[in-house]
Amino acid sequence: MFEKVLIANRGEVALRILRACREMGISTVAVHSTADANAMHVRLADESVCIGPPPPGDSYLNIPSIIAAAEITGADAIHPGYGFLSENARFAEIVEAHDIVFIGPRPAQIRLMGDKIEAKAAARRVGIPVVPGSDGGITSDDDARRIAEAMGYPVLIKASAGGGGRGMKVVRSSAELPQALSQARSEARNAFGNDAVYIEKYLTRPRHIEVQVMADSHGNVVHLGERDCSLQRRHQKVLEEAPSPALNAMQRQQIGKTVTDALKELGYLGAGTIEFLYEDGKFYFIEMNTRLQVEHPVTEAVTGIDIVREQIRIAQGAPLSFKQEEVRIEGHAIECRINAENPVSFAPSPGKVVEYHAPGGLGIRVDSALYAGCVVPPYYDSLIAKLIVTGQTRNECLMRLKRALGEYAIGGIETNIPLHLALLQQPDFVNGAYDIHWLEEFIANKG
Ligand code: ADP
Repeated sequence: MFEKVLIANRGEVALRILRACREMGISTVAVHSTADANAMHVRLADESVCIGPPPPGDSYLNIPSIIAAAEITGADAIHPGYGFLSENARFAEIVEAHDIVFIGPRPAQIRLMGDKIEAKAAARRVGIPVVPGSDGGITSDDDARRIAEAMGYPVLIKASAGGGGRGMKVVRSSAELPQALSQARSEARNAFGNDAVYIEKYLTRPRHIEVQVMADSHGNVVHLGERDCSLQRRHQKVLEEAPSPALNAMQRQQIGKTVTDALKELGYLGAGTIEFLYEDGKFYFIEMNTRLQVEHPVTEAVTGIDIVREQIRIAQGAPLSFKQEEVRIEGHAIECRINAENPVSFAPSPGKVVEYHAPGGLGIRVDSALYAGCVVPPYYDSLIAKLIVTGQTRNECLMRLKRALGEYAIGGIETNIPLHLALLQQPDFVNGAYDIHWLEEFIANKG
């Protein structure tokens, strides 16, 4: 059993992990940059260590400082949260080399899924359907042209090391191809230090549907159903829901079985998410995330399962506390990502939060590290809160969401709460009739 866990993250996810630890009787170590000295994750943790100045490269990504903090405080394990070092295989290896448990998958699995070309090949090998495209990296312009012409335009160029929606280029004709390829390559080199790119068929009206999985070291691999994350801006999720308005129980069971069979074959360990595009009744794998995801609470809301607690149990070598047949998807949940940004221009809006009142009542969960008087620093992601609303039906959930967004008061900085309220007025959203391009079109038409 772990006695002490170091949380290598900040903001709402640091609190999320801290809460799971506290319920399990595990003490916590927060790490923080100098910009976060008064942050809520530092205030709530049992101990805290300052690991460097504000820029992430000097603090939350500073591996030697984080390892030193774990050694000084005698932590048994490190939970990386999401973002920062959560999908850094080298970090996981270094943690283990110091006899500290990394709460996450094996380094080899993180590495495999972090290379999207390799990940797609592995998915195909274990029977997961993938988006049609190049079987590996693109070696030349001619190679790219041949593949694109065989599939038909439009096609999408993607970076093998890509993440956060960066490094993607839509190509609509062979004339655009050479320039798009060289741009994609140089963007990928600059952003990820790796210019390998591959080509996929560009799907014109898919939904983004992902399956949550968990695997323990006793051979149990389970899925917790799906999340629909089709509402995106610049390939970044804005609102997520579970279950997907587009799937029925039979389809859920089928895709769940496909992914759990595949992960058994891969020998996967820990929590993970298999992301698909879904169009005309078919699933197409795009990538796997080997970590806790921002949107995990909608799954917790409809299954009643504490995903972080299960991650910690798995890392301790314990079996999952439930079996597949015990997983029940009940009711409906929606998560709104609340960002510190202008709701029209989307420009970041860091600063001092002068007023703060979070919504409450039946079916409401707010995951946030904000408090009145805190400062949202300009150095990190603009996500400041997640509002998760549950109802017995999707309609009840929508009704409650509108009420909760109306109660939410965050003063001193701008947020995208008005955008979420505007979404709730849209018949397509109310009817669940949206694909991955819908939100961009809505924003374009509104302005
Ligand atoms: P990242 O790791 O950068 O988030 P993903 O592969 O997960 O990249 O894709 C992010 C989003 O980009 C998807 O949710 C989807 O909206 C869009 N996308 C990715 N691949 C395709 C494709 N082949 N066709 C259309 N849209 C795509």
